[in-house]
Amino acid sequence: MTTALVWFRRDLRLIDNSALNAALAAADHVIPVYIHDPAAEANWLPGAASRWWLHHSLAALAVTSGNLGSRLVLRRGDTATELRALIAETGAAAVYWNRLYEPHTVQRDAKLKAALHDVGISAESHAGCLLHEPMQLKTAAGQPFRVFTPFWKTFQRDISPATPLPSPRNLKVPPRWPSSISLESLGLLPTLDWADGFHGRWTPGEAGALTQLHQFLKRALPEYRTGREYPGRAGVSFLSPHLHFGELSPRQVWQAVQNADAPAGNAEAYLRELGWREFAHHVLFHFPWTTDQPMYDRFRAFPWRDDYAKLLLAWRRGETGYPIVDAGMRELWTTGWMHNRVRMIVASFLVKNLRISWQEGARWFWDTLVDADLANNTMGWQWSAGSGADAAPYFRVFNPVLQSRKFDPDGTYLRRWLPELAALAPEDAHAPWETGGRRIRYPAPVVDYAISRAEALDAYQKIRQLPESR
Ligand code: FAD
Repeated sequence: MTTALVWFRRDLRLIDNSALNAALAAADHVIPVYIHDPAAEANWLPGAASRWWLHHSLAALAVTSGNLGSRLVLRRGDTATELRALIAETGAAAVYWNRLYEPHTVQRDAKLKAALHDVGISAESHAGCLLHEPMQLKTAAGQPFRVFTPFWKTFQRDISPATPLPSPRNLKVPPRWPSSISLESLGLLPTLDWADGFHGRWTPGEAGALTQLHQFLKRALPEYRTGREYPGRAGVSFLSPHLHFGELSPRQVWQAVQNADAPAGNAEAYLRELGWREFAHHVLFHFPWTTDQPMYDRFRAFPWRDDYAKLLLAWRRGETGYPIVDAGMRELWTTGWMHNRVRMIVASFLVKNLRISWQEGARWFWDTLVDADLANNTMGWQWSAGSGADAAPYFRVFNPVLQSRKFDPDGTYLRRWLPELAALAPEDAHAPWETGGRRIRYPAPVVDYAISRAEALDAYQKIRQLPESR
């Protein structure tokens, strides 16, 4: 009788789980395992909001496994040590997992695979977290892509996502279970319950992910192409944390969107966003330094502001005096998520108007987003700073007032997150300082938009002249 371990990581689902299916096909008994090993995340330890999500997602996976008579074994500590201990306790001859592509994870997994092979244990990794594998696509010159449009054209030509695998019916329960620790002992939940606003908003886990997908297909996909731009409407899928933790696979989403009955152009617009997720992972895989340093060298010389603690605090707290920025930062703090249009606005404001480095912004998002994802977050921040792959041109500085008027014309989003502006007419809420004389308890703008924009452009002009080695 053979036993296999399935090492769950960010694939916390039973449906379309390649590693789980392969283990079930090959072994007589299968033991699902999750090992909490934050030290393996190098200097990107999971943030507080991610840990909240992970706790609830693991709880959900334990329930779905339990429904099929199985269990989710939990361990904490160094992954290699824990896997070796589990192998000794269970007599397992094989370990299966789905591949991840962050630089530190790639290195850790390669070492682990070699170490398991050395002691005669079979170690099999499978694709399952992306629609393509980052090493699969190359430019005509044989290089990794740095620009989205040619990447996406090549992707559409060369990649055909396979049909998702169904959920297994039999998890091949072993006769004896190895020891497991309790979910609570992983210490993932905050000691002070600041996550109150998350509970009503999210349902972590595979069942919650599927419900969210179906609601999106019915309600928002038919108008996604335009609806996705308006933060006051529920025009997007809200699937990002579910995709990050692998509670559903991108193949499931791809297939469901392709088969949906939506007016022309909307499904394509959505699949293109999934394409950005693929592109972000492709770029991080090939340019691993971009998590901490600009992709292009000359941006290292950018003259960031020196004394910025107060401005950074105002940005984090949503007290910059620019309503669309403040609304976004408060949405983030309260729900662990922010609309993509507003992410672009708050990021441009931090980097260009406050001249605070994108790394500060990326770190704050890392700690506060439930969908914090190293590839997508790095791409989003480098794009906003103008320093990364296919970045927004350096001269594009979002005007927060014009953006607010255009994408939240009736002030729905502003009123939702900034009750102190409720007394203003919707058209006045975008720039309260312009309504003169009206007494509201709302901060004055922390910087002048026009002056700070001119300073940013000046700084960018100087570094533009520098030679580039990458
Ligand atoms: P939808 O519009 O429904 O899109 C569907 C899916 O496509 C998303 O769930 C996501 O997986 C993917 N996607 C959409 N836009 C992008 C994009 N620009 N880049 C990569 N993938 C995308 N996304 C994260 O998942 N994690 C992050 O940490 C993250 N940080 C960001 C930081 C900044 C500064 C910016 C500008 C963007 C960031 N994004 C991040 C991308 C994007 O804002 C979110 O993926 C999106 O808002 C999630 O909401 P949704 O699932 O409703 O998106």
